[in-house]
Amino acid sequence: MKHLHRTCPLCGADNRTRPQSRYSKGEWLIKECPRCSFVYLENPPPYSDLEENFAWEKTYAREVDYRRKRSPLLYWISSKNKKFKGKYLKRNKLRDLLKSFNVRGKVLEVGCGCGQFLKDLEDGCVPFGIEISKQLAKTAGKAVSNRGGTVINASSLEGLASFDDGSFDCVIMSAYLEHEIQPKEVLKESGRVLRPRGRLIIKVPNYNSINRVIRDRNWCGFRYPDHVNYFTPKSLKEVLKGAGFSIEKFGLQDRLPTSDNMWLVASKPEVR
Ligand SMILES: [Zn+2]
Repeated sequence: MKHLHRTCPLCGADNRTRPQSRYSKGEWLIKECPRCSFVYLENPPPYSDLEENFAWEKTYAREVDYRRKRSPLLYWISSKNKKFKGKYLKRNKLRDLLKSFNVRGKVLEVGCGCGQFLKDLEDGCVPFGIEISKQLAKTAGKAVSNRGGTVINASSLEGLASFDDGSFDCVIMSAYLEHEIQPKEVLKESGRVLRPRGRLIIKVPNYNSINRVIRDRNWCGFRYPDHVNYFTPKSLKEVLKGAGFSIEKFGLQDRLPTSDNMWLVASKPEVR
């Protein structure tokens, strides 16, 4: 198995000689940066493995299987709970945000998976996607082709590089940024392809959630080696400001410690 070595994705500190966190698992080393306290996977597999071996759809299936075998009752309760929440409570969160920020025009989802969200975008939006998994990118491409958009099968940085400055009205990263081994670089590139005042909408697991504290190593936010960044409300804000974004919406409702996830809307400042 090949591993990359990452310095802290937030502050750049090289923590290879530092002890690993107790959240490490098997060969996967989790580090808590002593300089900025960011928690991250230090030795992820290279991007090339994400195209197939560690493609999300495969690691997710393995994870579900593992959880089901480890604790059938907990698995049953949590899947019922997820279904309930998915159906009645959270279904429209992303859609509501797009509506309340009056998003129109070209919308790019980075890490678009099979295009589930893109294909149902409101009329008036043209869906584009970037997806590293070959299989998912293919499915997503079919889903958006009749809406005038395209899906690029590439790593996010490569995909973003193929678009001109100011191409998009909105960029979406839903359950994506926790997977990205170069989050700062991807955010900067996303800023480049957004038009001034364009919106960036992010959904990401909240490492500071109460559930993580209670369930500890069994928290659903830990996925090896898929999740490589463990953001807190503070570090999420910092990384976005560092990439040149203004925070538009990130109230208490968007980062409740009782939720495993947080939502943030940022925008690209007007050029002066
Ligand atoms: Zn750091």
